[in-house]
Amino acid sequence: MIQEADVLLKVEQLTKYFPVKGGIFGKKTLQQVKAVDGISFEIKRGETFGIVGESGCGKSTAGRAIMRLLEPTSGDVHFEGVNLSKLDKNEMRKMRKDIQIVFQDPFASLNPRMRVYDIIEEPLINFEMGDKKERKVRVHEVAEQVGLTIAQLSRLPHEFSGGQRQRIGIARALVTKPKLIIADEPVSALDVSIQSQVLNLMRDLQKEFGLTYIFISHDLSVVKHFCDRIGVMYLGKMVEITNKHDLYDDPLHPYAKSLLSALPTSHPLQVKERIILEGDVPSPSNPPSGCTFHPRCFACMDVCKTVAPTLQEVKSNHFVSCHLFEEEGVKSG
Ligand code: SF4
Repeated sequence: MIQEADVLLKVEQLTKYFPVKGGIFGKKTLQQVKAVDGISFEIKRGETFGIVGESGCGKSTAGRAIMRLLEPTSGDVHFEGVNLSKLDKNEMRKMRKDIQIVFQDPFASLNPRMRVYDIIEEPLINFEMGDKKERKVRVHEVAEQVGLTIAQLSRLPHEFSGGQRQRIGIARALVTKPKLIIADEPVSALDVSIQSQVLNLMRDLQKEFGLTYIFISHDLSVVKHFCDRIGVMYLGKMVEITNKHDLYDDPLHPYAKSLLSALPTSHPLQVKERIILEGDVPSPSNPPSGCTFHPRCFACMDVCKTVAPTLQEVKSNHFVSCHLFEEEGVKSG
């Protein structure tokens, strides 16, 4: 458990369902797509918490629901002790000064008709931060911090490479001096050589400004390199949460084991048994009964088909949602 005073963000039973409408007038809810289905976790100040999982597991929806870019269906999100779910629209809008987002596709997320200077300045105007002169000082300051020159600020986004565009996206997120940045696949669209430059920049900024990151990615190698603790998502649920060393050295949940078995080993002579997952990820509008992973699980038992496991602390700070570990309870140390 994280000490209460160190907790920056606490997510409790967060759900986001999307109704599928139909019927004669298209207004009847026929079913719900359970994109995020009751996830809970805490994030410590200054840490990088990774959310990892296959495409469609709900990780990006979770990021948006945390900052209420998508209105959650239920659950609570406490940020510095304030329950975001209870804020009205105006109060939430002000709160977003402290919680910013960096998107995956730096080109699609930047207005192609706006100069880089205006893109970075825009959040300061939206949050009514500073007068024109103060905003200019701040835009120049943050541009320098992310490695952009003053001359580049008068250009348009299409004049930049992918890596530079992501620097602009980071500058825009950073300009309001947020405490938490949700980075949604921030390097997935970039070449490998550029990925490390952007990740190093994000790490330097974290050290300098004490930033906390939620780092959403499908790339297990990048998550291992960048995150302190990691939550593994499957079909809208968190199935395992622990620090990166425990997850990568000794994953417990069968899904996490399968995912990580696909990673190359660091030693050429080390042979690792690859666990091939059978079948595709089921539809979140019609998830399997019991443990939603059971149709693909190599360790499935009868109970798994009917009873959903809950996330439990099975070792110190190591949480798993799986019937295999329910007897073990919390071990100290
Ligand atoms: Fe596999 Fe059962 Fe654990 Fe689900 S609960 S991951 S089906 S062993």
